[in-house]
Amino acid sequence: MKIAVYPGSFDPVTNGHINIIERTTKIVDKLIVAVAVDSKKTILFSAQKRTEMIKEATKNIKKVEVKSFSGLLTDFVKKNKANIIIRGMRAISDFEHESQLALMNKRLAPEIETIFMVTCSKYSYLNSSIVKEIASLNGDISHLVPEIAEKNLRTLFLNKKA
Ligand code: ADP
Repeated sequence: MKIAVYPGSFDPVTNGHINIIERTTKIVDKLIVAVAVDSKKTILFSAQKRTEMIKEATKNIKKVEVKSFSGLLTDFVKKNKANIIIRGMRAISDFEHESQLALMNKRLAPEIETIFMVTCSKYSYLNSSIVKEIASLNGDISHLVPEIAEKNLRTLFLNKKA
């Protein structure tokens, strides 16, 4: 069984993430999308909300499971009997940070391989921060995120303004 874990903050999930999830399910037996509870980034949505949004957005994609995790990623991967970590690679600017993470994870758990999926070119500019910024300025994000994320962002920023 090839079981992969796709970790991230997913604050919120974007169409770029969904694209990586869809493509990964074609090459593995099971994909666990792992929502990081602890993040160094400033997080807008709770881990529960971020998890719910991915569950809703991936409900029609087979082989996908969504879970949240805290602590060491390699421990979560082992606990779930997985042996692959999936990460998305957008531009060369992602490379330094991503390769450092992959090398550290290799050191912590040599049996786990990190595989990079190169983003689809139409999503190469897309990240959660830019989506949050556009949504906060009332811009159109419908082509950037799944419907459930758009709905939650709209509600959140409308309430903030009220
Ligand atoms: P993190 O906080 O761990 O960087 P993110 O939620 O920002 O988590 O991203 C999770 C993973 O998805 C990372 O590997 C990131 O490179 C990848 N990713 C984010 N946006 C895109 C995109 N538009 N296309 C492809 N991969 C992406």
